[in-house]
Amino acid sequence: MKKIFLLAVVFIFITNATSAQSQPYVILISFDGFRWDYPDRGLSPNIELMKENGVAASSLRPCFPSKTFPNHYAIVTGMYPENNGLIANSMYDPYHHRKYALSDSVAVKDGRWYLGEAFWETAERNGITTASYFWPGSEMNPAYRRPTYFEHYDHAKPLQDRVEGIIHWLTLPPNQRPHFLTLYMERTDDNGHHYGPESKEVNEAIRLQDNMLGLLFSELKRINLFDSTNIILVSDHGMSGVSKTRMVNIEKILEDYKVHYQQGGPIMFIQPKADEVEEVYNRLLKKEEHYNVYTKENIPARFHFSKNPFIPEIILSADLGWSLTTNSSEKYMMSMADGATHGWDNNLMDMQGIFFAMGPAFKKGYQVATVNNIDIYPLLCKIFNISPRSNVDGKLENIEYVLKGR
Ligand code: AMP
Ligand code: ZN
Ligand code: ZN
Repeated sequence: MKKIFLLAVVFIFITNATSAQSQPYVILISFDGFRWDYPDRGLSPNIELMKENGVAASSLRPCFPSKTFPNHYAIVTGMYPENNGLIANSMYDPYHHRKYALSDSVAVKDGRWYLGEAFWETAERNGITTASYFWPGSEMNPAYRRPTYFEHYDHAKPLQDRVEGIIHWLTLPPNQRPHFLTLYMERTDDNGHHYGPESKEVNEAIRLQDNMLGLLFSELKRINLFDSTNIILVSDHGMSGVSKTRMVNIEKILEDYKVHYQQGGPIMFIQPKADEVEEVYNRLLKKEEHYNVYTKENIPARFHFSKNPFIPEIILSADLGWSLTTNSSEKYMMSMADGATHGWDNNLMDMQGIFFAMGPAFKKGYQVATVNNIDIYPLLCKIFNISPRSNVDGKLENIEYVLKGR
């Protein structure tokens, strides 16, 4: 009896070990704010290599609003921000008087804000070990909602250390080694905001991050994993210039009303007093110039931006290049007016990101039209042959043609 038990244990151990070894490898990389057309500047030979040897989409369409946290979380959950919980980079829960901000290291770890299931959690439940060298949501509590291996976000962390971190995890013994990993770099977004998308600083950031991609390739070759690893390179949104001459002070328009303002720049959320919603909306509608004003009820369905309880009653979306301000934010906006930002309508060309994918799962030298970022979660599930959550917005059928044999 004892012998049979031992044999069974050995058998389970061996099958687990072999099933882990036969799992695919996927590295999901995000270059923050890397606009769809940056690869055409001739500065990124390693992206070019991905294009030649893999799949290249003309762009990756973000969700509305085209901001960092809503979109990174949409990519890993397959859900629109209204459903994944991250409706913006900063949020307010009026029912419990709690605030969320990406700079608040306590809030970003609070799992209550994150309503979707990130791919790493789906994967871990299916016996796939995962790791994250930064990704919005990857630090959240409780622990079972995080990747097995993760790093606390550090803006100053050298990019090379991040690549080395990925390689370190990939050289762990097979039974501890992650098969799904995320990697994040923000230099293109930083320099885009400060100097604008056409600046030499953005070009330097493109070169630097592309170099890091090259380093990742050579390191994967050194550890003999290059041929068996799928690499998906994405960005969360694009970038477009702002100007001192393209600002609308919303507080001036609403000076007769006491309202609560959130966001600012390309989008603004307004919560009026309960009995003044219609009046405030009508005032904004009358003055509507360089922006569109919507209520939670009449916002066009394509934005998928109404179902969340933390979305205030009124949503303003500025025209491309225009910024919405309040009296207090005007000064700050003026100081940033030589730069650029994002957050505008997710269908605008300037807000589009990138999608490249290379590896054993993908077609080679295959160029496709725009891909939606919410469809990446079902794609990841397909690559690992596991079932996606039933409540996701993304659809495999919209993207599976990028896979070999589909
Ligand atoms: P945005 O305001 O939409 O341009 O946000 C970009 C910024 O988000 C980056 O410059 C980072 O400072 C910040 N960020 C990115 N990932 C994380 C993270 N995992 N935790 C905290 N902050 C982050
Ligand atoms: Zn971003
Ligand atoms: Zn940004």
